[in-house]
Amino acid sequence: LLGIYGAELNFPVYVVGGFVRDLLLGKKNYDIDIVIEGDGLKYAKYVSKYLRTTFVEHKEFHTGSLFFKDGFRIDIATARVEYYEKPADLPKVEISTIKKDLYRRDFSINAMAIKLNPEEFGVLFDFFGCQNDLENGIIRILYNLSFIEDPTRILRAIRFERRFNFKIEERTLELMKEAINNNYIEKVTGMRLREELEKILSEKNVIDSIIEMGELSIFDHLFWHSKYKKEKVERFKKILKFKKWFENKCNIKNKKIKDFHIFLYSYLACENGEAAIYATERYGLPKKFINNLNRLNIIIEKFKTLPFKWKNSDFYNILGDIDDELKIVISGFLTSKEMEEKYIKYLKAISNLELKITGKDIIKKGISGKKVGEILEYIKIKKLDGEIQDEKEFLERLVI
Ligand code: ATP
Repeated sequence: LLGIYGAELNFPVYVVGGFVRDLLLGKKNYDIDIVIEGDGLKYAKYVSKYLRTTFVEHKEFHTGSLFFKDGFRIDIATARVEYYEKPADLPKVEISTIKKDLYRRDFSINAMAIKLNPEEFGVLFDFFGCQNDLENGIIRILYNLSFIEDPTRILRAIRFERRFNFKIEERTLELMKEAINNNYIEKVTGMRLREELEKILSEKNVIDSIIEMGELSIFDHLFWHSKYKKEKVERFKKILKFKKWFENKCNIKNKKIKDFHIFLYSYLACENGEAAIYATERYGLPKKFINNLNRLNIIIEKFKTLPFKWKNSDFYNILGDIDDELKIVISGFLTSKEMEEKYIKYLKAISNLELKITGKDIIKKGISGKKVGEILEYIKIKKLDGEIQDEKEFLERLVI
C-alpha cells in the first residue's frame, strides 16, 4: 500500500536503514523508516488519511510519523542531505535524492533502501557496497568526516558491532579513535549521548560494549572527574545479574527501574562529588541522583563496620528506606558470599514485611507523640529479625 500511495502521488517511495539491514539478515524489525523522493509531508498526510492513523509532523526536518491504533509506527522523511555547520551540531536539512540521503547515514550496513512503488517493488538500492559489508560483517563509515560531524556514531558503531558480532573496519576504527582522542564526544549534547548510551544499555551483550568503550577511553570523555577501571565492569555485570533476581522477587511496587541510573550509580560510586555533579548536569539526571550517590557512598563505608553476625536489622539500620535502584546497585558492593546471602535474605524479609498493627493500635493503648513512631519502628525491627511472630500480642506485652 505504501508504494501504491507513492505511485498515486508520483513520488518514489523507499523503506530504508535498519529495516532493510535486518530484512537482509533475516531478523525481525518493526521500526519502519520510509524515505520519499518528493514531498514526504504531503505523502505522509495522504497515507494518514487513507489508513486512518494519527499523524505527527516534525516540520523542521521534513519528517512525520504515523501512529496506528495497535501501537505500530511508521516514520516518513523526505530524501535529504544534511549540512553540519559546526561539528557535532544538529544538521541543517536540504531536500535531495535517495542516493545522497543514504550517503549521509551512519554506516554502510544502514545505508540501503528498497523501493516500494509497484513498478519497481522490492528493488534493492545499494550504492556503496553495503550488502557486501553486511555479508562480511563489517561496520564501515561512508565518508571520512563521519565521526567528526556526528560523534554519537562512535557509540552506534560499538552497539552494532556487538549486537551483530561484526567488526569495525580498520580505517573506520582509526578515524573513530582519532575523533575520541580529539575530544569530539565532548561537543555533543548530553541528551543525544544519553539516548545512545541508553540504547547500548538495553542491548543483550552490553558488558562487551562497555569493555570496548572503556578500552577506547570513551568513558573518560563521557564522565569527567572519574576514571574507567576494569573492576567497574565486573561490578556492573554482577549488578545486572542481581537486577533480574530483584525484579522477579522484590520489586513489589513495580516501579520502573532505569538501567541508565543503575549504570551511573555503579560507575560513579566512590568517585569524588564533582563527577556526580557533572553527570547530573550533563545527562539531565533527577536532583535526587547526587543525594542517592552520597548515600550509596556512606552505605559502602558502613558495610565495612557490619558486625560479624549480621541480622536483618543491621542492614535495615544502614539502608533505611532507599530506592529500589539503589537496592540493586548495592549488590555490587557486597564483599563476600556470606554477605550476599544475608543481603538477599534481608531484601526478601523487608519486601514481604507486613505489620498487623498500625499507629492507631498503639495510640489506643494510651501512648501518644513521638513514642508511637518509635514503638512501631521497634516492632518492625523485631519482626524483621524474626524475633516476634504475633505483633498484636507483642504490643500487649510491651505496654504492660
Ligand atoms: P535499531 O535496530 O537499534 O533501531 P536502527 O538502525 O533502526 O537500529 P535508528 O537509531 O532507529 O537505528 O536509526 C534508523 C536509521 O537512521 C539508521 O539505520 C541509520 O540509517 C539512520 N541513522 C540513525 N542515527 C544516525 C546517525 N547518528 N547518523 C547517521 N545516520 C543515522
